This record gives sequence, structure tokens and C-alpha cells, in this order.
Amino acid sequence: MSTQEYFDQGELVAVLTAQPLDRTLDYKAPEGGCFLGAFVEVPLGPRKVLGVVWGPGQGGFDLSKARSVIRVLEVAPMREEMRVFLGRVADYTLTPTPAMLRLATRAPGLGDSPSMRKIYRLGKGEPDRMTDARTRVLEVLRDYGGLAFTLKELAEQAGVTSSVVKGLVKQGAVREEDSPRDLPYPHLDPDLPGKTLTEDQAAAVSKLQAGQRTGDYGTTLLKGVTGSGKTEVYLEAVAEALRMGRQALVLLPEIALTAEFLTRVEARFGACPAEWHSGATMTERRRVWRMVGQGDAQLVVGARSALFLPFRDLGLVVVDEEHDTSYKQEDGVHYSARDMAVLRSAICGARVILASATPSLESWANAEAGKYERLDLTSRFGAAVLPEMKPIDMRAEQMQPGTWISPSLRQAVRQRIERGEQSLLFINRRGYAPVTLCRACGQQIACDHCDARMVEHRFLKRLMCHQCGETKPMPDTCPSCGVEGKLAPVGPGIERLAEEAEATFPEAKIAMLSSDLFGSARALKAKIEEIADGDADIVIGTQLVAKGHNFPKLTLVGVIDADLSLHGADLRAAERTFQLMRQVAGRAGRADKPGQALLQTFQPEHPVIRAILSGDEEGFWKAEAAGRQAAGVPPYGRMAGIVLSGPEVGPVFDIGNAMARNDAPLREIGAQVFGPAPAPIARIRGRHRVRLLVKAPKGAPIQDAIARWIAPLRLKGDLRLTVDIDPQNFY
Ligand code: ADP
Ligand code: ZN
Repeated sequence: MSTQEYFDQGELVAVLTAQPLDRTLDYKAPEGGCFLGAFVEVPLGPRKVLGVVWGPGQGGFDLSKARSVIRVLEVAPMREEMRVFLGRVADYTLTPTPAMLRLATRAPGLGDSPSMRKIYRLGKGEPDRMTDARTRVLEVLRDYGGLAFTLKELAEQAGVTSSVVKGLVKQGAVREEDSPRDLPYPHLDPDLPGKTLTEDQAAAVSKLQAGQRTGDYGTTLLKGVTGSGKTEVYLEAVAEALRMGRQALVLLPEIALTAEFLTRVEARFGACPAEWHSGATMTERRRVWRMVGQGDAQLVVGARSALFLPFRDLGLVVVDEEHDTSYKQEDGVHYSARDMAVLRSAICGARVILASATPSLESWANAEAGKYERLDLTSRFGAAVLPEMKPIDMRAEQMQPGTWISPSLRQAVRQRIERGEQSLLFINRRGYAPVTLCRACGQQIACDHCDARMVEHRFLKRLMCHQCGETKPMPDTCPSCGVEGKLAPVGPGIERLAEEAEATFPEAKIAMLSSDLFGSARALKAKIEEIADGDADIVIGTQLVAKGHNFPKLTLVGVIDADLSLHGADLRAAERTFQLMRQVAGRAGRADKPGQALLQTFQPEHPVIRAILSGDEEGFWKAEAAGRQAAGVPPYGRMAGIVLSGPEVGPVFDIGNAMARNDAPLREIGAQVFGPAPAPIARIRGRHRVRLLVKAPKGAPIQDAIARWIAPLRLKGDLRLTVDIDPQNFY
């Protein structure tokens, strides 16, 4: 990277654009020159595109042909730290840098000068006559000191029509001004009093704050059982970062969670932080992007891509629920937000807090190896104690066909209903039934475009493919044999379980929580609040409920199928089951009543089930670590998944075979290649998928070897290749 910071008019600069080219393009610096990192608009053929001044031009062509940068945009230039970060992520994930730039500029209208809108303040003039309505408007403006309102806000606050306000403007009693639409975020005050901390919490806070004050990079794994106050603790680290005048970012896995979280931030710091997620409007996104860059947003709460916002001085990144698989992005750039948070912080001298009740084995191992500091919160806040965990041995239960709630679980739920407490029945499957079978011909209804079954969603009265999202109406006749009335659901999903619960407990009020049942995050939040207030006797939920919601009246968790995720081809199957079961169980007994978790299982002796029940977490991790070490798989070895896809299976396999034969660059670093084999989901959206797996020793330069390995490939027509470094999901 160049050290030249400024380019005079006419000097050649290299501009990185988000266009799919594998290099930067040379342009002449515009009138007035430009800084390194400046966001610019450049001509590309007949178009104008966004770019960033990446360094001095490469030259080597007829300079009289060089075109000029059209204009420099009115936003803060990209900081060097960000350019380094994007470059490193590109190298790590084997992503072309232009795709990285797209990630870093995910806000529309960056080039526009901020649009203006009218705002209203108290003026100096006196109205010719006073009416009640006019008095109210002036009172509102006086009550709020110097604050400005939009016309709509002011009219609403005062309970008047906008013409009343306009009338006052004419008289000079109210002042109308133009103001940029992207306003700074309200100031967060770290010195407002926080909660009184327990001894455990205070000790963790003082370590985190001391780390924060060093101003240097460092990562801490904050492990604490659900309800131990991890959030309270890391908010104090945020406070310390803010006190030092630095910015903080809190990453959350699930947008549904942000609402509850924002309320807590507001209670602690007196105002709401900036929010960044896919549900935000374009205007909101642009405001966040700009204000973060100007330093006028102290705290951002967001989804994984918030990591690519142009922070001016990022001092802390919190990754909450750090084990959550949604931190891994699996389309476009394949990156792990957790790992890249550590990378970004190392570059800019920020602290990282990875918070979880059930950390990933990766983070656990990094703490064991001394790379991360580890802090434990061992007890739940207040009187709350961890739930008692017990198996229900399904081999011994008398089950009616087509039912999934065992007599033992039924009895436990009944007890709770009688005591006015809540129960949660957990099943990690959306829809009514995972399989729809024709009893005449034996065929299961599959997606036309994917190698996957269609899942019945009775609420929607449709079949849905969970791979590609395709839906179709539930047919009356079998699509294979044409026989009518023989289609039958097989196995339970959340909707079917709810049906069983309604029949079994007719006196109970039942609420369902599944990500697909709510049109918006707001509707989901409302439902969660209702449940938390006690407005349900039985909650039936999918994975969604495992994530950090507080239900104080909940004292029983029944896991319908604890064996469900135990047997995957996935190397993390045991880890995932362990995490999920413990997270779900952690929902019970959060207030003053003790909770119980009952796990329905056909294999109570399975080592993972035993580890879950005994609560011996360290034991589980040690055993899991030893197993992975012996197999040489992550985090004790490196892996990459290569997926080739195309409309015809033959050519896809041909390339896969050629790659497997020409594996010299991999062998040089001691890596092995497995496959090609049909990917676990062999067809998605009509494309056949073939997978190769690369396994390498821990320290091996796997990216470099893979880059050399795939460089000679010429993919014809519609063939695609994607590389996933450190794959999390094998599909
Ligand atoms: P975690 O993030 O570990 O699940 P939380 O921070 O959400 O835990 O805390 C669980 C509940 O206990 C929350 O309602 C929180 O407000 C409350 N709580 C935790 N610590 C304290 C404290 N020191 N004082 C008052 N309330 C607390
Ligand atoms: Zn499909």
C-alpha cells in the first residue's frame, strides 16, 4: 500500500470499483486533487460508477488516453485501517477486492449531498392573536428547549393541524429552517448510573474496562450461563469505550432481538444507538453509514455486515451469542463475522468481547491456548438457578402413533398449567410436517428445483422448499401417481406439535414462535412481550426461542426430539446439539422459580446427551477437542469447501475430477483433497452441485495453495465455483 496521501490534479490514481474486475483502474485525479481513500465517481464505458482511490496509478499505457475522476464525493475518505481490513478479508476468504468494496458501501446514495428537510424552532416574533392551538404549539417548543421538530412531529405533539404551525411561521413566532436529513445520533451518556453489579459481574467489568483502557487489541471470551448478566457486563465495557471517546459495535445474531436490546441500551445510556440490519430503510442505512464515518454515532447495534461500516475510531466490538451460526455469511463473500471482528480489531487496536453461554469450540480452544482472555460468570442473577435437566427415555414411553408429547412430559406440563406457570415445547422444525408422503405410491413430494423435500406449512396452506423458498399449493392428488386423498404428513413440525398440544391441553392458552409465522420483526417482538407478560400457558417454539429472550414465568422446557441434530455428517453435530439443548434449557427458571428441562431421547446413554444432562461443560469440550484433534479437523486443522455447480451434472463432475487430479499446489503444503462427490444437497434451484473438501494441517497457507490450484481453471458458460474457507455448514 502506498504512503502517498494526496494526489494533485492530473496525477494518475488507481481506483478500486465494485465492478467485477480483478484489478484497479487508472484515472487522472480531478480538479482540486484528491486524497488517498477518497470516495469518487469515475467513468466506466458509458456509465458512472462509485470507487475508492486505492493508491497511485499503475500507468504503463498511453497517458493521453487516461480519463479523469468525475468528482470526489462528500463523505469521509476510506481510512487506511479499512483498506487494510478489506484487503485482508479478501485474502482470507479468497474474494476479489471489488466484492469487498461492495460490502463496505452498502448504503445507497453515498454520492448525493445530504438532502434537506424543513425543521421548526421557537422564533422571536409575537403572533397577532393567540388561540388555544397556537399556545399549545409554542408551549411544546418552549418545553423542549431549543429542540427542533419536523412539521409532522410538532403538529402531533401539540395536537394541532399543520396549518396552525404554518400560520405561526408567517408571524415569525416559529422559525422554519433547512436541515440535512442525516442527523447525528443523540448523545449516549456513559456516566448515567448503571445497575448495581454482583461481585462476579463487577470483577468481570473491572477486567474488561482495564483492557479497554489499554487502547490496544485484545479478545476476551465472556462465558456465562444464560441470565448471568453478560449483557449488563459488556454494556459497562461499552461505557468505558465511550468514555474514552471511541466507538463501539455490538453484533447480534437475530434482528428480532434488537428491540429488547435497544430498550436496555436506552435505559443505560439515555438514548438509542444506531441500528444496522437488513430491515432498516435505505435512508436509515445511509444515515448510519455517514454518521459512523463522521464519528456522530457512538454505538452501533447490528447484524454481521455492520462490521464493514466505516468507523472513525472503533474501540470495541461485542459479538453476542458468538457461537451462533448466523454469523457465518454463506452467500457472496463467505466470511465469519466473529473471526473478522477479531481481525478488524487487531488492525485498529480495538477490544473484542465474545459473549456466550455455550461458546464455539473455536473460541474455547483459543482461550485454552491463551490467545483469548476468558472471564466466567458462574451464577445466574438474583434468585434464578439453572434448571434441573432430566432425560425422558422414549423407549419406555407409551406413545400413540402420530403423537410426540410423551405421557411423562404431558404430566409435567399439566403441573405447570395448574400452578399458573409456563411451559416451552421445543422442536427445531418449521412447518407442519417435514415430509408429505403418498400412501398409494410411496413417493415423497420433492421440490422441482432442489434435491429437497417440500415441507407442508398448514398456516399458509402451501408446501414450501426450505432450500430455495419455492412454494406451491398443497395438492389434493399425488403429483407422482395422480391418486386422490392419499397424501399424508409424516413426522412433526412446530405447527403439528401445536395441534397436538391443543388437543392434549384444551384448557391451555398456546402460543407459537417460529421465524416464518410473523410478517415483521415488530410483530414478533409484540408476541414475545405478550408471552413474557404471561399471556400463554404453553409456548411452542423453534430455534428462535433459544436466543436470549426472557420469559420470567417459564419453568419447564420440554425438548421434543433431543436426538434430532445429533446425527449429521457435520463435524459440528455434537457441538451444535450441545449448544442448542443448553440454550433452550436456559430459558427455564430465569426469575425466582426454579426450572426444569426434560429431554425426550431414544439414546439417553449417548455421550453428548449425557454431557448435556450432567452439565459438565468443560468435560464435553475436552472430549470434543480431543476427537477433533485426532481427526485433524477445525480448530486443530484447516478446511475449505469447494462447490462447483452448473445446470448439467456431467461437466460439473468433469471439472471436479480434473481438480482432484491436479492437486500439486495442495500436496505441497501437506493438504489433502476429498471428492469430488455430490454435495449433501445435490441440487439447488436447478443447479447440480459437486463438492470437494480440502483438509490441511493447522499452520498451512491454505488460501495461497487454493488460489494457485484454481487459478488455471477456465469455467465455461454457466459453471460456477465457490470457495468457503472454514466452512460451518456442509451442504
Ligand atoms: P445474559 O446476557 O447473561 O443472558 P442478562 O444481562 O440478560 O444476562 O441478565 C439477565 C437478567 O437479569 C436481565 O433481565 C438483567 O437486566 C438482569 N440483571 C443482570 N444483572 C443484573 C444486576 N446486576 N442488577 C439488576 N438486574 C440484573
Ligand atoms: Zn427448492
